[in-house]
Amino acid sequence: MRVGIMGGTFNPIHYGHLVTAEVVRDRFKLDRVIFVPSYHTPYKGRIHPASSRHRYKMAKLAIENNDYFSVSDIEIKKGGKSYTRDTMKEFKKSFGKETKLFFITGADAIAQMPRWKRAKELSTLCEFIAASRPGFKLRRLPVKYQRHTHLIEVPALAISSTDIRGRLKKGETIKYLLPEDVEKYIYKYRLYGSKPRRY
Ligand code: NAP
Repeated sequence: MRVGIMGGTFNPIHYGHLVTAEVVRDRFKLDRVIFVPSYHTPYKGRIHPASSRHRYKMAKLAIENNDYFSVSDIEIKKGGKSYTRDTMKEFKKSFGKETKLFFITGADAIAQMPRWKRAKELSTLCEFIAASRPGFKLRRLPVKYQRHTHLIEVPALAISSTDIRGRLKKGETIKYLLPEDVEKYIYKYRLYGSKPRRY
């Protein structure tokens, strides 16, 4: 088996994430992709405005039409800081040695990977797929990690969670940036300072 673990804050999940997962699944011939919303990403000072449960539920709504995709609450259930090495170790244990694991996330995050907890051990557990907007160079990554890392360009990553949160705060539309069910969920629970809105 070849399994992709899609790590991120997903605050909120959007089409950039979904396109990334689908492009990677296709290109790397993955049998499945598991989205893993983090509870609290290390090096981020504060807990995110949408609680981890909201981020998890939005991810579930977003992937529901793709049989290859699923969502795991492994990091949310565990709480505390979400260390990728611990998460990948758990997946390795449950899938077994024969399964090849790929950790998929944004290239900006992968560029910081040498600072992560037990990064060297992590690089023995999986290969890394760094997704970026066109033009990103992975030069900043030390050569020993570059060997385990694939860079893919995904134009749909022009969509960003930061931009979506900013739009909601200003009362601007977020239509077509994320799945409609996620959009409705955000307005229903007034996430990110959003006001009720007609569709
Ligand atoms: P981030 O810094 O919020 O995101 C960096 C960039 O990557 C943003 O542009 C983001 O876009 C994009 N991105 C994030 N997840 C993506 C995905 N799955 N596919 C495509 N683009 C993505 O990163 P983060 O979300 O906090 O962390 C990313 C992953 O790295 C998480 O799984 C986290 O747990 C892990 N991490 C581990 C450690 C550690 O083990 N010590 C430390 C840091 C991060 P959006 O804002 O639009 O999502």
